[in-house]
Amino acid sequence: MTSADCLRQFDNLNVWKRGDQRAPHKPLLVLYALGQWQNGVTEIAFHDACPIITDLLRDFGPERKTYHPEFPFWHLQSDGVWTINTDLEKRPGGSALKRELWNQNAEGSLTPEVLLALAADPWLAGEIAHRVLEAHFPQSLHSDILDRVGLNADLVVSRRRRRDPNFRDHVLTAYEFRCAVCGFDVRLGNISVGLEAAHIKWHQASGPDRADNGLALCSMHHKVFDLGVFTISEERHVVVSDRANGTEGLEALLLRFHRRPIKEAQRPEWQADAQYLDWHRREVFKGDPRT
Ligand SMILES: [Zn+2]
Repeated sequence: MTSADCLRQFDNLNVWKRGDQRAPHKPLLVLYALGQWQNGVTEIAFHDACPIITDLLRDFGPERKTYHPEFPFWHLQSDGVWTINTDLEKRPGGSALKRELWNQNAEGSLTPEVLLALAADPWLAGEIAHRVLEAHFPQSLHSDILDRVGLNADLVVSRRRRRDPNFRDHVLTAYEFRCAVCGFDVRLGNISVGLEAAHIKWHQASGPDRADNGLALCSMHHKVFDLGVFTISEERHVVVSDRANGTEGLEALLLRFHRRPIKEAQRPEWQADAQYLDWHRREVFKGDPRT
């Protein structure tokens, strides 16, 4: 298989879809498998992968009552890039699948064709990882995810996707070049430092490049917003998760804004739109609002 064929297969991962819900299961397993491969491990035991994929889903996926690392471990087979050594006559439903994979000491691996392609092209693993990240996660989370799966970030050349070049300008103008949460507005001459235009509904979930789907946020608030540490209520108040904890900085950076309104956009039509805020609360925010 050529590198191009291999990339095409990973570009076309058949990811579960329902409305605009996120399903990062297969992407996270692919990234984990690439990280393992880079560290010399090709046979991945379900026993080892199960808790790791669960943690990745919990930290980088949407909040769910239960997590299902067995789904990608099984279903990635149908994408032609993954194989497991366990042949179940018929796939058992629900949690029985997890039990079966566990009891049978299932092992998974990238297919021999993919492994050959990876061995032949030193840039391929990084390119696959880059594309999977771009397709499923906002840029602010890429380096955290790479760290967690043990992938060498130097191989994953980050290239900003071509987006509407006006989005950043439009959003920063809407919020008068200040963080909508904390008001941070440091400039070096005329250049804003550490101020970013965040998508409320991610680009990866078809969120549009419009001011009413954007917030001007300082780098710190952008990152924790994308991680789901806080969200914005219908009344456009900051809502911090009960999962956020820490000793230094938590009060100064987050808690003192809890239940406080964000800055208003300059024009009513630029205010954060309810449908995008609703998506962020459903698909990104973690835990429950603090009392
Ligand atoms: Zn801020």
